[in-house]
Amino acid sequence: MVFGFVIDHPEGAIVVDTGVGQDNAFIDQAYAPTVRDLSDALSGVGVDPGSVVAVVNSHLHFDHCGQNPTYYGGGIPVFVQAEEVEAAKERFYTVPEWAAVPAAQLRALRGDESIAEGVTILSTPGHTRGHQSVLVEGGGQRVVLGAQAVWDIDEFDREEASPANVDAEDLRAAAVSSIRRLKALDPNLAYFSHHPGVFRRKG
Ligand SMILES: [Zn+2]
Repeated sequence: MVFGFVIDHPEGAIVVDTGVGQDNAFIDQAYAPTVRDLSDALSGVGVDPGSVVAVVNSHLHFDHCGQNPTYYGGGIPVFVQAEEVEAAKERFYTVPEWAAVPAAQLRALRGDESIAEGVTILSTPGHTRGHQSVLVEGGGQRVVLGAQAVWDIDEFDREEASPANVDAEDLRAAAVSSIRRLKALDPNLAYFSHHPGVFRRKG
């Protein structure tokens, strides 16, 4: 299971991760995914697919950028960490055509970046070196879209970098720092890519 997210922003919708894509023979054979069309998913939560003004990819593994091509060829900016863009050029890292953001749309970031009022991208390395999360602030609430900073919500509670989520040993310390960084924001809510549980601030 992999979730994408949408920020219903006054300036237009901001999509965070686009899920698994369609019509890739290798992915279909290896994973036989049930793919929900992104435009349908947006309509399903009351967001006009035509209102999307930006895409953020937490990282470029195939299950997080699969429906990016829906937006390729237009003028919508796609925000990715520069290190992730480099990593995605390695063989077998991802599905290259899904991850290949056109140069005119690519916003390759080095660290944190505010991309709209109340919407800040945070560098949270761990699962990958170029992994990023999103902080949404508004109406006195702080919401973290933690993406794959953890696999399971319990790892967020325990501040644990599980080997399943962080297979590079040299990134485990960074992964724990990233979890602590997100928790230090004291979010009201935090959501993750692969777990349906929602972290809620206590008290
Ligand atoms: Zn991944």
